Amino acid sequence: MSFNTLGLSEPILRAIKEQGYSEPTPIQKQAIPIILSKKDVLAGAQTGTGKTAGFTLPLLQRLSEGVPAKGKRHVRALILTPTRELAAQVAESVETYGKHLSFRSTVIFGGVSINPQITTLRRGVDIVIATPGRLLDHVGQKTLDLSKVEFLILDEADRMLDMGFIHDIKKVLAILPKQRQNLLFSATFSNEIKRLADDLLNAPVLIEVARRNKAAESVRQVVHQVDRERKRELLSHLIKDGDWKQVLVFTRTKHGANRLTTQLEKDGISAAAIHGNKSQTARTKALANFKQGAVRVLVATDIAARGIDIDQLPHVVNYELPNVSEDYVHRIGRTGRAGNEGEAVSLVCVDEDEYLRNIEKLIKGSVKKVVIKGFEPDPSIQAEPIQQRSAGRGGNRSRSNSGGGNSRQKSTTSATRNDSGRNGGGRPSTKQRSRDSHRGTR
Ligand code: AMP
Repeated sequence: MSFNTLGLSEPILRAIKEQGYSEPTPIQKQAIPIILSKKDVLAGAQTGTGKTAGFTLPLLQRLSEGVPAKGKRHVRALILTPTRELAAQVAESVETYGKHLSFRSTVIFGGVSINPQITTLRRGVDIVIATPGRLLDHVGQKTLDLSKVEFLILDEADRMLDMGFIHDIKKVLAILPKQRQNLLFSATFSNEIKRLADDLLNAPVLIEVARRNKAAESVRQVVHQVDRERKRELLSHLIKDGDWKQVLVFTRTKHGANRLTTQLEKDGISAAAIHGNKSQTARTKALANFKQGAVRVLVATDIAARGIDIDQLPHVVNYELPNVSEDYVHRIGRTGRAGNEGEAVSLVCVDEDEYLRNIEKLIKGSVKKVVIKGFEPDPSIQAEPIQQRSAGRGGNRSRSNSGGGNSRQKSTTSATRNDSGRNGGGRPSTKQRSRDSHRGTR
């Protein structure tokens, strides 16, 4: 089944094609036609299922079909998320899939100055992606008018409830117009979610797709513990020894991706890097060479790797573990697709133990640990904070700021991620965590 039959317009289909998606995922197949038929939806879908495109694509379609109320540009769609990371990711998807349309979107969360957000809102936006706390601050200050919202989407609603946002959500619901389309996405359906759904949704269609863990069953996961200075050597060894022909390798930083690429080349392994500092042409070329087998290793950052869709990719390597655990699931989901077996190898040094624990908590299981002979970790090596060692100035997961009217917003995003400590690896300070949980912007 292709995207063409789902009822999406040409500018949206073009954006999908440019992302390299060949086929809708199960959640997209189900959700898109239902949302286009103007019904409310209660969807059970986890991260990694393609849920974001599952609601963003039909939302953009519905927005372009509708006739906005006269006058200044106003907020027509509101997407609420539990965390700032998710808000930023969803905002990026809205931009990506809507790049051939003329909607303006912005992301709003706490922990950063409110003033740039006010300036953006004053200019007028069609789509707001927000965490509840800061959203309500804007409403309170009358810097955001939600009286003409036509679409409300709650993403990861279960996490929102877990984080204590129910009152904030209710406050938001109370100020929205009654006539609107509602979409509620949640990984789980607790009684609390069912109650929220009863309050919020009008004759919803229920959609459920297989749990993410199912998809991951076709991926063999393994951790090789190794000293931080020997990771490159171990990677070259694994590639050569296993005669791996096509490997997608993840690094946390753009600089790290470049450095690793150069080092692999020195080891006689053809490699190319893709990340936000590379031009689109360079990225497309690297990807094409990789797909054709002209380049054996593609080294990518998380953001750049989104949308890379390679059939039968046998090996994914986490050269460095991601600091956002969900990214691990995204990364390993690149292999083991469409019924093929895949292997996800993580090279983990002592600095990353906490990341590994968080990942194992998220995937609800421990990953098999195998020490490779000759690469046994030196127990005398102490853990070092990751940020100091590798991030450098500007952070290590900043998003591309090239082009686009709201680059300011985006750069704010990357700064936030740094400030919160999630960007560079350290855990957020207690103060930060407590502030976040109160403000609802984690
Ligand atoms: P999500 O579940 O929304 O977090 O999406 C998980 C990942 O799947 C994201 O990196 C998307 O870029 C990617 N993705 C979404 N839809 C598709 C598709 N139809 N084909 C391939 N990849 C997709």
